[in-house]
Amino acid sequence: MRLKVSQLDLPPGYSVEQLAKVVAKKLRCDSSVMHNLKVVRRSIDARSGAPRVNIVVEVDVSGKKPSGKRDVEVVRNVKPQAKTVATLKEYDGLRPVVVGAGPAGLMAAFALAEAGMKPLLVERGEDADARSDRVKDFWKNGVLDSESNVLYGEGGAGLFSDGKLTSRSKDHPRIRRFLEILISCGASPDILIDAEPHLGSDILKELVPALRNRIVELGGEVRFGARLDKVMIDDGVLRGVVVSGEEIRTDHCVLAVGHSARDVYAMLAEQGVPLDAKPFAVGVRLELPQHRIDTAQWGGSFGSLGSASFRLTRRAEDDERSCYTFCLC
Ligand SMILES: Cc1cc2nc3c(=O)[nH]c(=O)nc-3n(C[C@H](O)[C@H](O)[C@H](O)COP(=O)(O)OP(=O)(O)OC[C@H]3O[C@@H](n4cnc5c(N)ncnc54)[C@H](O)[C@@H]3O)c2cc1C
Repeated sequence: MRLKVSQLDLPPGYSVEQLAKVVAKKLRCDSSVMHNLKVVRRSIDARSGAPRVNIVVEVDVSGKKPSGKRDVEVVRNVKPQAKTVATLKEYDGLRPVVVGAGPAGLMAAFALAEAGMKPLLVERGEDADARSDRVKDFWKNGVLDSESNVLYGEGGAGLFSDGKLTSRSKDHPRIRRFLEILISCGASPDILIDAEPHLGSDILKELVPALRNRIVELGGEVRFGARLDKVMIDDGVLRGVVVSGEEIRTDHCVLAVGHSARDVYAMLAEQGVPLDAKPFAVGVRLELPQHRIDTAQWGGSFGSLGSASFRLTRRAEDDERSCYTFCLC
């Protein structure tokens, strides 16, 4: 019988043996009669405020359900899978063009390539490697390349972040699919079980080229230094796009240009494409000593857990605007 066992309290840096012992205790059995023990969720609980931190774990395991245990459930249904695009075996239409190789554009191109539509992905900046050199030059010598920089280029705006995977979407099957694709490109499988998935600094610079190679293997094409200049619309119908001066016929274009590409929005507005204004947030960067955050959140520092983080939101009663922390690195 497949069981889901939740609310398992373990110390930071727990071992497999410790985990098996705690699960066996919940199931009131010997750990030797349990099979296929797999961690499916993991989070940190430091609510006691004391200098003590628990890791709360949920597992899937084959075993026998003991009576009267609320934290043990029988798993009856297979988890819902993300809807995948049907594979078009002999797609002979014009190839779709995806603009922007940030997370949105890369995943859109991957999904289209997987469906057999051989997309063309165009990115105004350079590939992740060349772009990293360009960004180093900027930090060191102040030389800005307006087309390939911290915001523009393969991997998009977050390439040089510490890789926290923040998503406001509630579409859990799709988020899972996104994480699975990252794992297939080399990310740690832990991102599927951690409550706050985190790739780690600079990992994206390796993952993103792997994802690009998968798109190419599936029949897609990726071009760097290729900037969308214009969309060709005739009678309200998309006929093609102009990319770095070249006209490309297409009837489907995914604009995944991020929120920094003001020139694209200006061009679309000029061409009469209906646009909706989206409110935007202004950010400031604050630096806090890490030990103070660790102490406030966990009552102290725990080497095996890395650094503590927090989220803070505030909405003044008489003001529509709110204030929130976005990313703690
Ligand atoms: C410094 C920094 C750190 C961040 N850290 C995190 C983090 O830790 N965790 C997190 O979840 N989020 C983080 N974010 C936010 C995250 O990066 C964005 O939410 C995400 O990148 C948005 O993805 P996107 O694909 O929509 O757009 P973008 O990532 O902005 O990608 C758009 C791409 O389109 C390309 N493009 C634009 N115009 C054109 C054109 N005309 N032709 C061709 N290509 C074009 C750009 O070059 C760019 O590569 C961070 C952002 C920044 C700036």
